[in-house]
Amino acid sequence: MTTANIPENHAGSILTIDLAAIAENYEILKTRLGTVECGAVVKANGYGLGAGEVGRTLSNAGCRKFFVAHLEEGIQLRPFVGDAEIHILNGLIPGTGDTYREHRLIPVLGSLREVGAWQVYTKDAALPCDVHVDTGMLRLGLPPDELRQIANDPDLISGLDIKNIMSHLASADELHNPQSGSQLKAFKQVRSVLPMGAASLANSSGVFRGDPYHFDLGRPGVALYGVNPLPDTVNPMRPTIELKARIIQLRDARPGDTVGYGANFKVKTHSKIATLAVGYADGFLRSLSGKAFGYIGEHRVPLVGRVSMDLITFDVSHVPVKLCHVGAWVELIGANHSVDDLAREAGTIGYEVLTNLGARYHRVYKN
Ligand SMILES: *Cc1c(COP(=O)(O)O)cnc(C)c1O
Repeated sequence: MTTANIPENHAGSILTIDLAAIAENYEILKTRLGTVECGAVVKANGYGLGAGEVGRTLSNAGCRKFFVAHLEEGIQLRPFVGDAEIHILNGLIPGTGDTYREHRLIPVLGSLREVGAWQVYTKDAALPCDVHVDTGMLRLGLPPDELRQIANDPDLISGLDIKNIMSHLASADELHNPQSGSQLKAFKQVRSVLPMGAASLANSSGVFRGDPYHFDLGRPGVALYGVNPLPDTVNPMRPTIELKARIIQLRDARPGDTVGYGANFKVKTHSKIATLAVGYADGFLRSLSGKAFGYIGEHRVPLVGRVSMDLITFDVSHVPVKLCHVGAWVELIGANHSVDDLAREAGTIGYEVLTNLGARYHRVYKN
């Protein structure tokens, strides 16, 4: 019997994605929202985990409203989610009306210019859209002066089939940041000018801010994938991924030896250095140089030296020999070491760790 065609046998690194855990996270968010509908944000390839697989899983779990950033992402998601709604957060690129119609995609209109363009495109046959109003980010959404123009002249927004009026929270993950309260107040004012359709404000962290933030539709993203929406408190979400990499080389090092590019890690005592088949080309961020930890069984091992394109190096000196051999696996993300842990070590957020997960990992989807 040959094992040559079993990818697990020749993979240098394996990323396992637990679709059942993502479905459970959807249930946790739904429970938080009570009777309020729960949508799902699956932009950036489902935060790196695979928009198709995630979309199909959540569609089967009952999700009817999906959000992506790009029109292209919406086109690619369509076959996985049946006739569920797909909303395009980045709004309307001029001249793309036919593409929206053909793939049954819904633009989130973010300025009066886009509103006007959609009025023109849909004047003979209404097509659904959302309207995004800025309440404090200065990125997307109608700015306050455009909202005032509509208040004075409602015709500016007439004739549209508006499904949702939405805004986006800038600081919902910071429990004591007063900006969320200001945005909530501003959004209520928005609703007094634009009462049509459903109202949607809450991202993942917003869902956990309580009822006043829920309105008619939640739009969680990152919490679906297991990142803690409430930093500094116990994570209410289930972890969804495991990342492990193989030891492909073991070296004995003597005091004074240096490891990797720039020789910026100098060995102090007799040590054993393990080289793993993962690098920054896999999205294992270079800022993790000298900062990350991995686990071999229960043994915590520090990353030493710089992260290279295809390789990282760990000091495994005190790991029992029987666990530590060429071909053995090292946990980089998993039960002992969460996405949030790795993000902290990299000086970034879980969002960035997930959306950088590389294309070279051998991916295994668990149901
Ligand atoms: C990305 C995004 C979300 C989801 O945010 P999370 O913090 O990942 O839950 C919701 N709404 C908008 C407009 C977004 O861009």
